Amino acid sequence: MTPRTVLVTGGNRGIGRAIALELAAAGHRVAITSRNGSGPEGVLAVQADVTDAASLDAAFTVVETELGPVEVVVANAGITKDTLLLRMTEADFDDVVATNLGGSFRVVKRASKGMLKARFGRVILISSVVGMLGSAGQVNYASSKSALIGFARSLTRELGGRGITANVVAPGFIESDMTAELPEAQQKDYLGRIPVGRFGSGDDVAKTVLWLASDDAAYISGAVIPVDGGLGMGH
Ligand code: NDP
Repeated sequence: MTPRTVLVTGGNRGIGRAIALELAAAGHRVAITSRNGSGPEGVLAVQADVTDAASLDAAFTVVETELGPVEVVVANAGITKDTLLLRMTEADFDDVVATNLGGSFRVVKRASKGMLKARFGRVILISSVVGMLGSAGQVNYASSKSALIGFARSLTRELGGRGITANVVAPGFIESDMTAELPEAQQKDYLGRIPVGRFGSGDDVAKTVLWLASDDAAYISGAVIPVDGGLGMGH
């Protein structure tokens, strides 16, 4: 295993936290961003808001000084603002797209500078099964998540020759603060549609990200990897 310098956005809780801890346990040098600057023990926590390029730039500078140039970037920070289309405001739409898609753009753009210099990089974008399946009440969220596929595939064509891979991980229903907010009836409905018969955990996603960051995944790029217990099969 080659130890890498890794940055995970939104690594203070949920899936991002599980990813950060899994990669740190495997021996990588891990930094996370969080909006309040806090993070789990054993990783470097830096403050950043992914909707603000200047705060991300400052966070990268700290990480580069403390741990070296970022070699693996995991664009994980994301939000939902669910409501039916007719009730969805411009702000509901714009906020979700600015965080989930715009945030990924900002963090990957900043990371690509060091990756191009090093002629090595792993870009891992956390999408969602609903980016492909669609989901009533999530026009904003599903759009922001499916767009990440075009993002990773364009990046693969643009930077593939420079030792940089870009892949999408598409989790299904993962237990976290985000899914805890959903009404019980909706949670039950999801469970009934998951062939493996359980919700996923942050660790399920983290192990996939660990593999994508590893030397073994050097020839995987532009891929969409579902971690969804079969929920999105065929999409
Ligand atoms: P959580 O709500 O538990 O965590 C979201 C994380 O994103 C938090 O760390 C939050 O930081 C951070 N974040 C949100 N907005 C910003 C911002 N503007 N700048 C910086 N950080 C921000 O969600 P999950 O862990 O469940 O989700 C993580 C990712 O996985 C998201 O992209 C989500 O869309 C995706 N996903 C989740 C699924 C699930 O079932 N849970 C399924 C499929 C995909 P803060 O603590 O400051 O709010």
